[in-house]
Amino acid sequence: MKINSWIEVPENSDFPLQNIPFGIAKVGQLISPATRIGDSVILLSALADYGYFDELNIDDLSVFYQDVLNDLIALPKSCTISIREHLMNLFSASCDELKQDTEACTQAIFNINQVEMLLPVQIGDYTDFYSSIEHATNVGVMFRDPANALLPNWRHLPVGYHGRSSSIAVSGTNIHRPKGQTRPDDNLPPVFGPSKQVDFELEMGFITSTSTNLGDSISVEEAENHIFGLLLFNDLSARDIQRWEYVPLGPFLSKSFGSIVSPWIVTLEALEPFRVESPKQEPEVFEYLQSSGKRNFDIELEVFLQAENGSENLICKSNTKYLYWNIAQQLAHQTVAGCNINPGDFYASGTISGPTPDSFGSMLELCWKGTKPITLSDGSQRKFAEDNDTLIIRGFTRKNGLRIGFGECVTKILPTK
Ligand code: CA
Repeated sequence: MKINSWIEVPENSDFPLQNIPFGIAKVGQLISPATRIGDSVILLSALADYGYFDELNIDDLSVFYQDVLNDLIALPKSCTISIREHLMNLFSASCDELKQDTEACTQAIFNINQVEMLLPVQIGDYTDFYSSIEHATNVGVMFRDPANALLPNWRHLPVGYHGRSSSIAVSGTNIHRPKGQTRPDDNLPPVFGPSKQVDFELEMGFITSTSTNLGDSISVEEAENHIFGLLLFNDLSARDIQRWEYVPLGPFLSKSFGSIVSPWIVTLEALEPFRVESPKQEPEVFEYLQSSGKRNFDIELEVFLQAENGSENLICKSNTKYLYWNIAQQLAHQTVAGCNINPGDFYASGTISGPTPDSFGSMLELCWKGTKPITLSDGSQRKFAEDNDTLIIRGFTRKNGLRIGFGECVTKILPTK
């Protein structure tokens, strides 16, 4: 049965009482860890001020007063689970204690319109995987050989690279079109100037919550004990810069001019009812990557493109369940050689494309290398993002009348600086 909150939750909200995501909110000059129910943002620092976490016996309440969530999510998993369950209790319709404490409510509860959401964690390290077989196949077909679209390693390991964390920004941050080297004509020398092929990549990311020692590795079985939750991610990519620079070490400046995350970390506990099996893996993977049970999530993903002064155009519908390599396999592979991890590290899935052309998770694929432009509702066409286009990713799960979502991951492409 769905339990309701005494805070109003609009129909189709991503944030019912069963979600209780974690983020960092700014109200006036105050920055605080926060959660969200409906359109209400709840400052955890204010709840701590009024003693609402005292009964949890948390050693150090300073985790509720910091401007990033790194220390809060680094608490033992049993502790973060009890914080979330405690918040669900405090705000459930059957609980009056906080509801009748007008002073605490005034200090703690704000409408989302009064709040600015900040980057939820200080991201130490960032890895970008390449875990969608449909995406890797599409790219292989377009740029290499349709008969051998997947490279020989692809089905044996979750391919990834270490990315740049300093340029990961929160939803609502607008990004200037990058300039750089490109080589539009293979028979002529390279040129320098603004990228002409700015693209989105529809991705999900997860945040780790623990520290491991150099030399340690994490098994698939244990991996979720090290993961706090998931976010939406738009890994903006300049395809023309990427194409010229990526040999032989992979993407560099083409993917580090700005990447956008949604502000709310949705916990694995909230996503528990929405687990699904992963796609069958052929050939069988090495033992350290073997995964049983439901380790994928049925999260519907949508991308909208909005031209300046125009309406939103739905240009892609995909789903996290298509990922060939699940998050537990990604983390097991990340650490198998002995790389240590830390709370607040960020791991992106790679572009999540589905099997049909309307589910492709980038403009590169949707427009098939520029050969099939998208027509927007205002009649204009796109092969890649233009200046002042806004890209919006939304993601949510639905089952038995319960909807849990991530909110939005929004960015606008500004002209070159
Ligand atoms: Ca990517």
